[in-house]
Amino acid sequence: MGAVTAPAGPHRPTRQTVLFLHAHPDDEASSTAGSIARAAAEGHRVIVIYGTNGDHGEVPADLAPGETVLDRRRSEAEHSAQILGTTRVGWLGYADSGMNGWAENAAPGAFRNADLDEAAGRLATVLDDERVDVLVCYDSHGGYGHPDHVQVHRVGHRAAELAAQRPRLLEVTMNRDAMRRLRDSEMAAARAQGIVLADDATFDPDAPMDDGNPMGTPEAEITWQVDVRDYLDLKRAAMRAHASQVSDIGYFMSLSPAVFAASFGDEYFIEPGLGPGLRHGWFLDGDPDAPGATEPATDEDGSMRTDTRESGDLSDPGVSR
Ligand SMILES: [Zn+2]
Repeated sequence: MGAVTAPAGPHRPTRQTVLFLHAHPDDEASSTAGSIARAAAEGHRVIVIYGTNGDHGEVPADLAPGETVLDRRRSEAEHSAQILGTTRVGWLGYADSGMNGWAENAAPGAFRNADLDEAAGRLATVLDDERVDVLVCYDSHGGYGHPDHVQVHRVGHRAAELAAQRPRLLEVTMNRDAMRRLRDSEMAAARAQGIVLADDATFDPDAPMDDGNPMGTPEAEITWQVDVRDYLDLKRAAMRAHASQVSDIGYFMSLSPAVFAASFGDEYFIEPGLGPGLRHGWFLDGDPDAPGATEPATDEDGSMRTDTRESGDLSDPGVSR
């Protein structure tokens, strides 16, 4: 496909701190779980921060007395983190805004209405405290236009500006060309074998999504293609951890192994500032052309940071995390 092979290199610290900013609990599983698992398996410190509590997700039928949707979604996120090896989970504490046009859009506390500097300030505090080397947020339209996903893009970029030491910044995206190929190959093959895929008839990556844009990004504008097939079992298990979200997760779980691997075996990232050309590689192996940190992720005494999992709210300074 005319892609360049990324040179693996000694230009990056061997152990980095990588922060993934996600909109809702379960987004980490479907979009970057392979990269999270790979980073954690290689000994990098991985932090996942959620913009919202996912409080407008599906209401599970088996809520315990006193348990809220928010409680369930947080415990599912913790379970996913345990599966993937995430070191720290944090919450910016905003409310789920719902899709464009929903009444929830106007709710006080909705992430889409958050003051940009306030939300980004909460994240920048983590970037500084953790000396984050790499921050991963979303592409400019959040992949499919969901207002909370667009906000992840804005907050991520602003937080990188506010941080005392600007981290390398990547944006996870979907490869629109690969999705079109998936529809015309693996999905068509499954159909020919009589396997029914729920979204079959309507799956069109070129159709206008929530904000009028088509899905994801053209391949020519993407920087990194990360093969995560070695981590697909963990990715699937992380998705399954979000079982309360029956319609999305149930659909993913219903995919045949071939369609699942074709759909989720590669993760795609834009790295603004890097030259054009899709690099088949791993962004933590580095690229000599890339800007970014070069200091090893060690404590002042030179020892590696310890990896006990932590979690907590970021909306209220002083709350445990
Ligand atoms: Zn989401």
